[in-house]
Amino acid sequence: MSLASDDVDFDAVVVGAGPAGSLAALRLAQRGLSVVLIERGEAPGAKNLSGGVLYPYELATAIPTFAAQAPVERTVTRHVTTFLQADSAVSLDYAGDHLASPVATADTAAPNAVTVLRARLDPWLAARAEEAGAFLMPGVKVDALERDAGGAVVGVRAGEEVLRSRVVVAADGVNSFLARDAGLRPKPPAHHLAVGVKAVLAMEPGRIADRFGVDDAGGAAHAVVGDATAGVAGGGFVYTNRDSLSVGLVLRLDDLVRSGRTAHELFERFLAHPGLRRYLAGAEAVEYGSHLVAEGGLAMVGEVVHDGLVLTGDAAGLTINSGLVLRGMDLAVASGIAAGDAVADAIEAGDVTRTGLERYRTALEATTAMADLRTYERAPAFFSRRGPYGPWGRTAADVLRAAYTLDGAPRRPVRTLVRDALRRSDASPTTWAQDAWAAVRSL
Ligand SMILES: Cc1cc2nc3c(=O)[nH]c(=O)nc-3n(C[C@H](O)[C@H](O)[C@H](O)COP(=O)(O)OP(=O)(O)OC[C@H]3O[C@@H](n4cnc5c(N)ncnc54)[C@H](O)[C@@H]3O)c2cc1C
Repeated sequence: MSLASDDVDFDAVVVGAGPAGSLAALRLAQRGLSVVLIERGEAPGAKNLSGGVLYPYELATAIPTFAAQAPVERTVTRHVTTFLQADSAVSLDYAGDHLASPVATADTAAPNAVTVLRARLDPWLAARAEEAGAFLMPGVKVDALERDAGGAVVGVRAGEEVLRSRVVVAADGVNSFLARDAGLRPKPPAHHLAVGVKAVLAMEPGRIADRFGVDDAGGAAHAVVGDATAGVAGGGFVYTNRDSLSVGLVLRLDDLVRSGRTAHELFERFLAHPGLRRYLAGAEAVEYGSHLVAEGGLAMVGEVVHDGLVLTGDAAGLTINSGLVLRGMDLAVASGIAAGDAVADAIEAGDVTRTGLERYRTALEATTAMADLRTYERAPAFFSRRGPYGPWGRTAADVLRAAYTLDGAPRRPVRTLVRDALRRSDASPTTWAQDAWAAVRSL
């Protein structure tokens, strides 16, 4: 089934000009279909806030000019994970030469990971969709889905305006109103959501290079747990941009509520933490915002297809938190590509019913993004454990403090230091064993 061409304003309406929406619009336009990309912000990126490490493999394959022209900030050449205590820090610091070299893709050579600012990246992505023929409509908020008598989606409503289309691509983010309106996704439970708070702090490029141990083009991605969140499930990050830092906290909603603290209060505390002072001193805040983050992993991904409608990116619940890496943008890109191609096929085949659009589900299932979601299926449950937010870091610090402190007492072997630190820790031996087993199974 498909509406006759006289009955539609566009072949496809894409709602949301984030990475998922822009890539879906790009692919549809490249197939010669008429497509409108609707964005509620005054411009793409105006309403977007993201931590900012992008793994651009899929993006650079889909847009061959990405490597040379995209507005990326720095190539990440250093990944640091820190267990922060009130007066000490234990870090795992990975700096590899290969991180600076491009990862070869089929058509281009992209860096492994880059930092991005969404206010720059999103307009660039939307411009690529426009260049391919998509019509960008910024400053318009979609209020509802338009349906036919049988309940199939046949367009969208924005205020008094109705735009009719064969297919609607919902790329409207983690709080997707369209997914709920279609009955595809219930409101996510609090333990599947986190609150992200982020500031951009201006800093001179030379100072960034000195403080973070990177060169002019290189960048650092710091993930920080433990005292960063005062024990609330979640973590902090500091990413280097060209002449600014992206600094933020991601706090699991249920644990934040339980703690009785506010995200803003914890963020202020994080910014003032002695462990961060040497990185942030003298930096000036130029931007601040907060946004929900999907944290449920595979459990959040439900039905992604309805008659006349597909869900992509955060709207489909596609994010991964593996502990070391937080990914959402590259999954949004992968799903946007899969949706654009599958919807174009369905339109050409004249069947945009749920059955015809099932090819999107099939294409999505075949992506590396879905394979990775399955690999980390147990990760969200693992991050409900207390270990990573307290005992692990405190115990590691306890061992290292003893190892590095020569106070005249005879030296003890490391195994004894570890045994004593475990005994002193606030987690029982059973909890340590369960943490270790859960980590092995989940990460
Ligand atoms: C603090 C924080 C840190 C993060 N860090 C990272 C990171 O380092 N790396 C990473 O890969 N991911 C990170 N993420 C996740 C990442 O930002 C998302 O997964 C990604 O942006 C999802 O892309 P999307 O296109 O699906 O949705 P979005 O980027 O959210 O885009 C949705 C778009 O739809 C628009 N929209 C919404 N409703 C409507 C409507 N009714 N009408 C019209 N337009 C509408 C919005 O304005 C927005 O532009 C982070 C998220 C947060 C909040």
